[in-house]
Amino acid sequence: MPPAGSTPDARSAAGPGPIETAIFDGRALANTVRDGLAQEIASLTRDGARPPCLAVVLVGDDPASRSYIKGKQRACRRIGMTAVERLLPESATQAELLRVIEGLNRDDDVDGILVQLPLPDPIDPAVIALAVDPAKDADALHPMTSGRLLSGRFDLASCTPLGILAALDHHGVEMDGAHAVVLGRSQIVGKPISMLLQLRNATVTMCHSRTRDLAGFCRSADILVVAIGRPGMVKADWIKPGAAVIDVGVTQVDGELVGDVDFEAAKGVAGLLTPSRRGIGPMTVTMLLRNTLHAYRARKGL
Ligand code: NAP
Repeated sequence: MPPAGSTPDARSAAGPGPIETAIFDGRALANTVRDGLAQEIASLTRDGARPPCLAVVLVGDDPASRSYIKGKQRACRRIGMTAVERLLPESATQAELLRVIEGLNRDDDVDGILVQLPLPDPIDPAVIALAVDPAKDADALHPMTSGRLLSGRFDLASCTPLGILAALDHHGVEMDGAHAVVLGRSQIVGKPISMLLQLRNATVTMCHSRTRDLAGFCRSADILVVAIGRPGMVKADWIKPGAAVIDVGVTQVDGELVGDVDFEAAKGVAGLLTPSRRGIGPMTVTMLLRNTLHAYRARKGL
């Protein structure tokens, strides 16, 4: 089978008969990319230089957020990076959080800063994103980072979209000239992946909750990226046979993680499909590590 979405018309590329759907293994690719990052860090620190360092800030004691930050710190240490955490109580004020970020901005031994979301009310995440030094913007939420992406001259970019590009590249999906349809226009997924796909010469259509004939747009997609948080909304008959389908959505339904695409039905229609578990998720954390390493290199002029 030719790579999913490899021609402007994935339907004709797929040919007649049932389609063998490649299921993306996010954990395997994440491990491969992380091995490469670990080797790079080992060579950068061989002469005794300090390793890259990610600072993770958490406000409050939400168990899910606490588990996410522990996972991110573990991932750092496994590849030879250091990780520091700053834990603030749920009662912390915005001014207190800003002071912590200011301290991390000034700390020359910190290369990347991530403030775990969501933040408790009334802390404004937009104010917090602006406070992070753009040179240390590992989570790529600062408007300067988005602006650089818009200009096409960027180093740091949102982690999930970078992970999506890596998945498409890994499966040899041709982006040049393909029609890419993105469902969702969030700051962290929809907008940046639309820009990244356009920079790879895809023709991009962005859809959202006000889009008319969502199914029709989806059916015309060689590459379909879905990030809406609506479990199982994208049905098999919304998918062009042979298309590359990237399901970013993860919603807890009856204790299970469910994606935005009807996964079982999409098998046999999509050329490439990402599962909700071990799909794009592990790539997101991997790209956080990649961003921290890029920030380290840039700050040291390497
Ligand atoms: P978000 O901020 O939750 O926004 C949802 C987007 O989907 C909005 O642009 C909204 O349109 C659109 N939308 C909602 N309902 C829709 C509908 N019925 N039809 C068409 N569009 C609709 O988005 P997000 O933060 O990107 O999160 C989306 C999903 O991805 C969530 O399930 C989240 O948990 C998951 N996620 C996963 C990862 C990962 O690493 N795996 C990372 C990030 C997010 P409007 O703008 O018109 O309201």
